[in-house]
Amino acid sequence: MKGITILGATGSVGKATLDVVGRHRDRFRVIALTAHADVDGLFRQCFEHRPQYAVMVEETPAQQLSERISQAGLKVRVLTGAHALEDVAKLPENDCIMAAIVGAAGLLPTLAAVSSGKRVLLANKESLVMAGQLFMRAVQKHGTELIPIDSEHNAIFQCMPSQEREAVRRMLLTASGGPFRGWSQEDMHNVTPAQACAHPKWNMGRKISVDSATLMNKGLEVIEAHWLFGIPPELIEVIVHPQSIVHSLVEYADGSVLAQLSNPDMRIPIACGLGWPERIETGVQSLDLCALGHLDFEPPDLNLFPCLKLAKQAAQTAGSASVTLNAANEVAVQTFLEGQLQFTAIAEVVQHTLEQSKPTNLDSIEAVLDCDWRARVIAKAATTRAAA
Ligand code: NAD
Ligand code: MG
Repeated sequence: MKGITILGATGSVGKATLDVVGRHRDRFRVIALTAHADVDGLFRQCFEHRPQYAVMVEETPAQQLSERISQAGLKVRVLTGAHALEDVAKLPENDCIMAAIVGAAGLLPTLAAVSSGKRVLLANKESLVMAGQLFMRAVQKHGTELIPIDSEHNAIFQCMPSQEREAVRRMLLTASGGPFRGWSQEDMHNVTPAQACAHPKWNMGRKISVDSATLMNKGLEVIEAHWLFGIPPELIEVIVHPQSIVHSLVEYADGSVLAQLSNPDMRIPIACGLGWPERIETGVQSLDLCALGHLDFEPPDLNLFPCLKLAKQAAQTAGSASVTLNAANEVAVQTFLEGQLQFTAIAEVVQHTLEQSKPTNLDSIEAVLDCDWRARVIAKAATTRAAA
């Protein structure tokens, strides 16, 4: 029996992870589940999966969860506070930690998981975007087995046994193109959060859905791939593939191109991470290529989706630009989701913040957090001006 902890259990990736875990109760036992403030969601998961610990970051919801757990007679210890996330990430009972908190909030808990030296399933791409070098150093230092869960990176992981890295000519990250592929700039001005979150192929949390609509998500993924696989950003190309069947490709020195294909369902990369090197059942239907008929590919439109261009530039300049980009994007996306910023202004806020931020040396996590904080101040001022 493998012990598993899920950071961000009530989110889209967290739920998909519990779906796979629930199909293999003979293999996995749940050690800890964490959430930000969703009492109902975490209570239901505790009832079904009986973890040893439940972490609710916010205090009042944690008290409510505690009461419901004792009323139901469950033996689950409820912890609270951001530090509890790091505590459960380091429990000796864990064999594997799923890092599925969204955004910069996932950085410290994910790093705590990495420092435990256990297997880490990485969905929280923002932690690599922010602290790639420090993160990968910690992976090496603690001998951590890091398995990417982002579908594109998991596809590359499956296509690239580590010894072949030297022979990689380039990597191709596929992007669905999001809900606004082929739209005009004018059409995109007034899109609503509901439209931006209605992704044509994937059902995800709201932040990553907006990132997919601006293509910032693909830009973050270029940075993520650079750190994960040690490949220079200029060898990582983005191609739009609206059917989301080919999840990414690796081209080798001899011209061979390897790809991983499947129906778009996060349970596949999650099960790959949970079972690796074994393949385990997910409940996902077989891929019907004849019913699909064709797979299409096209280059991304960088003028229509400037966030992708900004992220690629940040990837090439290395250093603190990625932290600034990520922080400004989180602020702008949140403000857009609150209905206080136009969709097309997200890229403007990110660009402005990058222009106003001085490059800094990221030699410690404190330096990363400081850079993140300073970028948020600039981005918040810019969103306030844009909303006025
Ligand atoms: P989500 O919004 O559905 O869920 C986020 C989870 O994080 C929830 O459990 C929430 O309670 C928790 N959380 C939010 N803020 C927190 C905070 N401040 N402190 C502690 N916990 C907090 O997000 P998601 O779509 O599941 O995405 C999670 C991560 O996985 C993101 O980094 C995303 O980029 C990545 N990812 C998601 C998908 C997907 O299909 N959803 C695919 C690839 C990568
Ligand atoms: Mg992805």
